[in-house]
Amino acid sequence: MAERRHLVVVLGDQLDLEAAAFDGFDPAVDAVWMAEVAEESTQVWSSQPRTALFLAAMRHFAEALRAAGRPLHYTRLDAPANAGSLAAQLQADIERLRPQRLVMTAPGDWRVLQALRSVADACGLPLDVREDRHFFVTVREFAAHAKGRKSLRMEYFYREQRQRHRVLMDGDGPVGGQWNFDADNREAFDAAGPGAVPPRPVFAPDAITREVLDLVEARFAHHPGRLAGFAWPVTRAQALQALQAFVRERLPRFGRYQDAMWPGEPWLYHSHLSAALNLKLLNPREVVAAAEQAFRDGAAPLASVEGFIRQILGWREYVRGIYWTQMPGYAGRNALDAGHDLPAWFWTGETDMACLRDALVQTLDHGYAHHIQRLMVIGLYALMLGVQPRQVHEWFLAVYVDAVEWVELPNTLGMSQYADGGLMASKPYVATGKYIQRMSPHCQGCRYDPAQSSGERACPYTTLYWDFLLRHESRLARHPRMALQVKNVARLDEPQRQAVRARAAAIRRGEVGGARG
Ligand SMILES: Cc1cc2nc3c(=O)[nH]c(=O)nc-3n(C[C@H](O)[C@H](O)[C@H](O)COP(=O)(O)OP(=O)(O)OC[C@H]3O[C@@H](n4cnc5c(N)ncnc54)[C@H](O)[C@@H]3O)c2cc1C
Ligand code: SF4
Repeated sequence: MAERRHLVVVLGDQLDLEAAAFDGFDPAVDAVWMAEVAEESTQVWSSQPRTALFLAAMRHFAEALRAAGRPLHYTRLDAPANAGSLAAQLQADIERLRPQRLVMTAPGDWRVLQALRSVADACGLPLDVREDRHFFVTVREFAAHAKGRKSLRMEYFYREQRQRHRVLMDGDGPVGGQWNFDADNREAFDAAGPGAVPPRPVFAPDAITREVLDLVEARFAHHPGRLAGFAWPVTRAQALQALQAFVRERLPRFGRYQDAMWPGEPWLYHSHLSAALNLKLLNPREVVAAAEQAFRDGAAPLASVEGFIRQILGWREYVRGIYWTQMPGYAGRNALDAGHDLPAWFWTGETDMACLRDALVQTLDHGYAHHIQRLMVIGLYALMLGVQPRQVHEWFLAVYVDAVEWVELPNTLGMSQYADGGLMASKPYVATGKYIQRMSPHCQGCRYDPAQSSGERACPYTTLYWDFLLRHESRLARHPRMALQVKNVARLDEPQRQAVRARAAAIRRGEVGGARG
């Protein structure tokens, strides 16, 4: 094998032919390196849909590289000499291919960057880590934004990005005179339900994807999740089709029903584009531009379009900045000293709580749940139960098709579990079952009653809410945004407190909520 100039390392979430790693690529002297390795599916207990999506998208990207005439060294998961981890495989291939330099786009995971740096050091090779142009904001720019601020808030960051990138702007001000339409974006469906939700675009598995599905089923049979409904976009062309379908069919109602839930309706008016974005099959600029164009064409209302753009230009960029400016210490944060184990039924969905069962089952079926299901059903339960944040993080990183650590960790540890003590979220998101009752009809089909905090029919969310406030009363009493909630605890007399605590203890022992009713 002739000596190579550059070996361009492409990871499973870097599937972009235009990435910075390819700048100056010369097929005569450079080559691309990709590897499917078991470690990426086992360092957390990766669900079958998640592993299948990564592998199917990688194999399709390999085809795109070949079509673009870029020499490729690709190791399949089932290759006899597969070394099992990115680091070990890369080291073995460096010895074989003898490149002069490694080149890559900055990876999304801190762990992966350390591992690849170690390989480069061990082999005495320079590693050229290039800026990830996929994002609107570089980590350095985020750090500059954060510097000197007492507290970080997404809203100010987002407004800066709107101005800087001229998104939904009218001269110097926001289109429509407001930066934020949150108040219009919190509706539940009425009793008639969501009606005829447009069908989700289905990308039937082709031969490449079918081969991956068989491989995952055989190799990761004991991993959580199911593959029967696998229909995710796995190529850039499919991702673009999914974007167009979303903008045409769902975006107009996205804002209004962003927080709503309905039993057995996983897709509703959300975009389902997070996985395609995180694998870099889609560029956030084209997603934001398509949404803004729909507003300018009169095809979607401003509140929906602004609400959607806020998620991508605001939240998505913001959590990346938090991740890269806070790691590696961030992953170990546990501000509320939570130490309970994650209930085993999170991996199967076998609970008699109707809301949680619905969210867990669709997660396992599709690797998908929308934001409010993740935050205010699944995450909320773990937070109020007092589950150790690392275990919650490992679950969220394992089950969703869009789960990559840079975006998952701040959302789970910070926004959902308040484990960073308020860096991401201005207060712990805690609520009784009445919040879920307001946003969905789940409680009508549930054996529990969201209005009761103790007794046989007490909703576990409601019990755990009061228990959470009792457990953290002194800590949260000084919190400006929690003080009012904590004050309500004073209304509970001693017998009521004891009843709440006794029921919460039964929930923690697994005597309530854990089995299908
Ligand atoms: C506990 C928890 C864990 C999460 N883990 C992930 C994860 O692993 N990967 C991931 O991409 N998102 C994660 N999110 C954020 C959000 O829930 C998902 O991006 C969203 O549900 C994906 O569905 P969608 O594409 O239909 O999003 P839509 O509701 O259609 O939103 C549009 C897009 O905005 C972006 N977005 C929306 N909210 C956020 C957010 N809070 N942070 C970053 N981007 C956002 C996504 O790219 C999404 O595709 C998590 C949220 C919580 C509360
Ligand atoms: S009663 Fe409680 S557990 Fe049951 S669906 Fe409502 S919120 Fe969920």
